[in-house]
Amino acid sequence: MNIKIYNSFSRKKEEVIPIEEGKIKLYTCGPTVYNFAHIGNLRTYIFEDVLKKSMEYIGLKVKHVMNITDVGHLESDSDTGEDKMALGASREKKTVWEIARFYEDEFLKDCQLLNITKPTVICRATEHIGDMINFIKKLEERGFTYIANGNVYFSIEKYPEYSKLANLSMEELEAGGRVEVDPFKKNPLDFVLWFTNSKFSNQIMQWESPWGTGFPGWHIECSAMSMKYLGERIDIHCGGIDHIPVHHTNEIAQSECATGHKWVNYWMHGEFLVMDNGKMSKSSGDFLTISKLIEKGYDPLDYRFFNLQSRYRKQLVFSFESLIDSQKSLKKLKSKIKNIIKNKKIEETIGERKIEKYQTSFAAHISDDLNTANALTVLSEVIKSDELNNAEKMYLIEDFDKVLSLNLTTIEEVDSNVDMDEEYIELLILERNRARMEKNWARADEIRKILLERNVELFDSKEGTTWKPKL
Ligand code: AMP
Ligand code: ZN
Repeated sequence: MNIKIYNSFSRKKEEVIPIEEGKIKLYTCGPTVYNFAHIGNLRTYIFEDVLKKSMEYIGLKVKHVMNITDVGHLESDSDTGEDKMALGASREKKTVWEIARFYEDEFLKDCQLLNITKPTVICRATEHIGDMINFIKKLEERGFTYIANGNVYFSIEKYPEYSKLANLSMEELEAGGRVEVDPFKKNPLDFVLWFTNSKFSNQIMQWESPWGTGFPGWHIECSAMSMKYLGERIDIHCGGIDHIPVHHTNEIAQSECATGHKWVNYWMHGEFLVMDNGKMSKSSGDFLTISKLIEKGYDPLDYRFFNLQSRYRKQLVFSFESLIDSQKSLKKLKSKIKNIIKNKKIEETIGERKIEKYQTSFAAHISDDLNTANALTVLSEVIKSDELNNAEKMYLIEDFDKVLSLNLTTIEEVDSNVDMDEEYIELLILERNRARMEKNWARADEIRKILLERNVELFDSKEGTTWKPKL
């Protein structure tokens, strides 16, 4: 079976034909480590994790490379705005290096909590400055650069394909991406490859280069590191949808001009997570993180499940009401699985034919441009099925969880100490809500106590009450 994905470049669903049979070279743009990742950023990493695991499920071997942007780059996608790393350093009174390492660790912890598997190679921009310099030299030799005001620019003039990924006219691209006008650019869409003349006098991260002491522009790191670890041609490149008009457009231009040939066969972009109450903004500091969800009583995997219930190419509106729904559905799923585990008998055997039918159906859905929502319905069918015995069900649940990564079968450890039926817990929570509305605090406290005695812990927030097994 081959996987079909929507290629943002051709704007068509296409079957993925690997460059090398059975193997996939995957590059995903990583985080800029100047602050915590918000749950929107993490939506993109969940989508990429599902992509990788889906390809592995159908038997492909994936080499996955992801960068860590730990070089200060500018706040907007164009060459304008504040330096993000310096912004983080001054906010927290730390050095840019401390900021970078701290937030890289935090990001990797979030990924672990979401069961996002580590890429084969994680590469830091600051450790690949030499590769970037060599890449810029190549572009220079081929005549794609010019120097102005001390900075090395990429000139888009000799690359007529420039606007192909975004499918916009040059005027639209110009209007979309740029705020400040840079008088040194020959074309407003040109971009900086190497800065020696930073507009920030206190730039700490600086390196020697043939053009003078300075630091790289943002886009160059992905091209240089991708080629170092994956070679000049790769199968799939991913990122969030916002990267299409500037970052990925620039990555393609510089990569194809440096090599003289096509770079990426399939481009995939994840749509945004949006908040029901407006935009999440890192600069205002008002954004949701995984640790905030944990504080409110959610398991990070409730959020992963929430994502899997929708399509990666559709905008997803976040609300606590929907997250609570996902939390409840996941709990229900797990409690059904718990019963399967309890009732499984040693003498039950696995019928290859029977399980194959469900595996094929699961694989068909994930191979259909990662239709995780439909794949989850196959999981429900397995759980409900009359034709499968408990051993077959467990085999399939474990098998599907290689992609879903919801810890579906570690159920017993998680809530074995909860000594109450879930529906009854929900009823008591409803009764407690009523008591609180009527200001009957004694009853509300009593219910909390009853639940706690059964190892059920309640978490109240303005969005509602959630519960978790007391560990
Ligand atoms: P950054 O660390 O800002 O480079 O972003 C990391 C990744 O998150 C990039 O692939 C972005 O495209 C993606 N991203 C940013 N905001 C959102 C959002 N609200 N929803 C989904 N992905 C996002
Ligand atoms: Zn990138």
